Amino acid sequence: MFAKILRKEIPATVIFESEHVLAFEDIHPIKPVHVLVIPKGNYRSILDFSEKATDAEITGLIRALATIAKKMKIDKDGFSIMTNSGHDGGQTVPHLHFHLLGGEKVAWEQSLRN
Ligand code: AMP
Repeated sequence: MFAKILRKEIPATVIFESEHVLAFEDIHPIKPVHVLVIPKGNYRSILDFSEKATDAEITGLIRALATIAKKMKIDKDGFSIMTNSGHDGGQTVPHLHFHLLGGEKVAWEQSLRN
């Protein structure tokens, strides 16, 4: 699914792109700002990414999260970054993605879809 977005085979509203990262709007936003931030490399989850990604990929992704928060103008009021892993984490798309959520208060306990 996200590999298709990376290959531009299915459309997405791109917010940010760099050598190692793509960020685009979530198709079903749960907050006024809901951006998905993904590595361009094929990593299933944070486990895979932390084991196999290069330092440049990891640094690029972490830096991109802050850059995008500023670009979306949620850095002043605050935001939440969430990544789900596996069944209990509620991960539905098997390509590592970080949800960047803001524009209104995000409850810590809030699950993405309940
Ligand atoms: P997760 O449940 O953490 O795996 O989150 C997957 C997210 O991907 C959900 O928030 C979906 O709304 C989002 N999503 C699925 N397909 C697309 C798509 N084609 N474009 C943008 N977001 C998508």
